[in-house]
Amino acid sequence: MRIADLHCDTIMRFYHGEHLRGMENSHISLEKLKAGEWMVQCFAIFVPWNPSGKPSRRPGPALPPPAEYFELAYQAYLREMELCKDEILPAYSVEDVEKNYAAGKMSSILTVEDGVTLDGKIENVDEYYKKGVRMVALTWNHENSLGYPQSSDPQEHMRGLKPFGIDAVRRMNELGIAVDTSHLSEGGFWDVVKHTTKPFIASHSCARALCDVGRDLTDEQLKALGNKGGVVGVNYLAGFLHPVVDREKDDYTSVEEVVRHLRHMADVAGIESVAFGSDYDGMGSKLEWGDASGQQLLVKGLEKSFTPDEIEKICYKNVLRVFKDIIGK
Ligand SMILES: [Zn+2]
Repeated sequence: MRIADLHCDTIMRFYHGEHLRGMENSHISLEKLKAGEWMVQCFAIFVPWNPSGKPSRRPGPALPPPAEYFELAYQAYLREMELCKDEILPAYSVEDVEKNYAAGKMSSILTVEDGVTLDGKIENVDEYYKKGVRMVALTWNHENSLGYPQSSDPQEHMRGLKPFGIDAVRRMNELGIAVDTSHLSEGGFWDVVKHTTKPFIASHSCARALCDVGRDLTDEQLKALGNKGGVVGVNYLAGFLHPVVDREKDDYTSVEEVVRHLRHMADVAGIESVAFGSDYDGMGSKLEWGDASGQQLLVKGLEKSFTPDEIEKICYKNVLRVFKDIIGK
């Protein structure tokens, strides 16, 4: 079964000098994607920063400021795509994905996690588009020029988009860049629902009715996303699927549990609105199926709860459909 996945953080490894081909101790490598029967992977430039200027993830040497990091990570992504061009090619539309697939190649779609480098300037949205970016998570876990992140404080969680955030959503709609609401505050999410003219995506989030954390979507949010023709990609992080009390025991993700979240999200948002959003190489939970190479075990697990038609939608058709609706080709 072909696989389309909405989010991974593997570009960070490219930035640190690792290569897609033969990458070890990672969820994703060229070989693992092939073994997992990949059609298309969204590769996110996750921009590590925080307002104090220190890197917000991963120990080690301090990272450059956001704009500089973004450029270096982008160059590292291009380098890896060039090195692997016989097997995987950047795609800028669904037409590209289908063309690559017909030629026996996988596709990558470039995305951004944290619109911090937009820096309040609308021309930077155009710059993203020119670089090939086709999806942008408006925030990560810090306030930026667009809005505010999800929060465990209910009041903070309801803060909406800033005026620039609304302008950026409109420009992304015009250009054909998907708005990604994962990590965004709930207030920001509702502003996206209000202002977007296109379907939108929650690239790596789960169902809050089954796990009460702010990174997951309430049933009301899932319904609204479905009504807009959007898609949510299920995240494999154990802490978004069930409460993690004892990390030793609980930081484990089973096939059954991912299927349970997908079933719930499909029941609430609609079967056209659910997909995979692994968070590969961005989350550390132990996975029953190991890594991308074991993806078909997860697909097999869907058979108990979904029809063959529905499984195709979850595995890749919904992702292709939503990108086509947003990009226009
Ligand atoms: Zn994330």
